[in-house]
Amino acid sequence: MSVAVALFTRDLRVHDNPVLTAATRAADRVVPLFVVDEALVPDRCPPNRAHFLAAALAELDEQLRALGGRLIVRHGAVVDEVRRVAAETSATSVHLAEDVSRYSRHREHALRDRADGWSVHCHSGSVTATSAEITPSTGRDHFSVFTPYFRRWSETHRRRPLPAPGSLSVPRTASDPLPEARELATGEPSPRLSVGGETTGRALLREWLDGPIGDYARDNDDLAADATSRLSPHLHFGCVSPTELVHRVDSTTEGGLAFVRQLAWRDFHHQVLAARPDAAWSDYRRRTSTGADDEKSVAAWKDGRTGYPIVDAGMRQLRAEGWMPGRARLITASFLAKSLRQDWRVGAAHFLHWLVDGDLANNQLNWQWVAGTGTDTRPNRVLNPLRQADRYDPDGVYVRRWIPELAHLPGARIHRPWREGIVAGDYPAPLIECVGS
Ligand SMILES: Cc1cc2nc3c(=O)[nH]c(=O)nc-3n(C[C@H](O)[C@H](O)[C@H](O)COP(=O)(O)OP(=O)(O)OC[C@H]3O[C@@H](n4cnc5c(N)ncnc54)[C@H](O)[C@@H]3O)c2cc1C
Repeated sequence: MSVAVALFTRDLRVHDNPVLTAATRAADRVVPLFVVDEALVPDRCPPNRAHFLAAALAELDEQLRALGGRLIVRHGAVVDEVRRVAAETSATSVHLAEDVSRYSRHREHALRDRADGWSVHCHSGSVTATSAEITPSTGRDHFSVFTPYFRRWSETHRRRPLPAPGSLSVPRTASDPLPEARELATGEPSPRLSVGGETTGRALLREWLDGPIGDYARDNDDLAADATSRLSPHLHFGCVSPTELVHRVDSTTEGGLAFVRQLAWRDFHHQVLAARPDAAWSDYRRRTSTGADDEKSVAAWKDGRTGYPIVDAGMRQLRAEGWMPGRARLITASFLAKSLRQDWRVGAAHFLHWLVDGDLANNQLNWQWVAGTGTDTRPNRVLNPLRQADRYDPDGVYVRRWIPELAHLPGARIHRPWREGIVAGDYPAPLIECVGS
């Protein structure tokens, strides 16, 4: 009986999982393996993502059991554990998903270097189109501007989603218990954190496609409406497949097209990071000037006490839910990087700590886009929080939800509390005066 190892990383699903499918095709028996990687846990795994991950692993185990298998869990250095499991089960191949961070590439190389009687196979499943499938005609190794990228992305042929395997046969081998969230991270999670996992993610996906996506083009920036999919953490951990998502969306509709365009942004950032892994922490594009460090202002920004209610609402939602809508991310990030002129890395690190969808490619490259060091073709744009508030929260409903001390201010008056005789002890005066659009 031949054996293959399917090493799960952040593709925690059985539907449309090229890694699992390839392993089942390569061998009679499959070891669905997850290694609690001592290089990442607990120091590099913040509490929100730890909780989501633990729940996602439990749901993955349930899905695998429904197919006749189960998840094999090991703790330790990932390459050592793969070697151990492969030796114990006499596996002849190891399958894993392609990824773009420096760490994941190092992991893949180390697996290849230390393969011992088994072959290593990488499969694309985390994005809908890889850099190899979409290359610029200029000869560069990646697209640095989204619009031409999206044109090519839209024309690119995509594989059809793969069904979940009909059944699984797992060879006898020991497994640690499924990890508990508290073992994966130190610190408390956000009180209103969403729950992770393939079953939950697929239910959310169905609900989204059954209705709300129809209004996405009109409402996605409406902060009070909460009218985006909230699929981002499921996409980050691979509980939902982006390829299946694109396949199931009707992109001939206005809402469908606007939605797949956002998924293309996700692929776009992944291809930038794949080509420039240093862009995770270094400026993608050289900047002309930098601001001075201002720890007090950064602390006020993190705490949601800048004196700009629209900024503070976003920052408080981040702590409470571990999530923010895209528009709020743009407003809060622009406030830190452009209005306060603080280094984008400080903001990106804070977001990475709290965001349940915290993702190196999406977070760092969106931060760089906002800061003007990334791929924005208008790097000097500044978002004025007041104009953004008037446009995207015209009745103040979003701000009222997150800033209870101002909830008594009616309508849009909530956006300018300094005009309403609010005492500084109740809510702070604005840190600075803002310009921009
Ligand atoms: C400063 C900043 C930091 C961000 N950090 C992250 C992050 O760490 N992880 C993350 O997944 N997204 C990040 N985003 C992108 C985007 O804001 C979130 O993906 C989105 O708000 C998640 O909510 P949703 O699933 O309801 O999105 P929807 O509006 O429903 O969009 C669907 C999906 O498209 C993708 N998407 C949407 N907008 C973008 C975008 N601008 N860039 C890349 N992909 C996008 C996401 O996978 C999202 O789940 C960031 C944006 C900014 C401005």
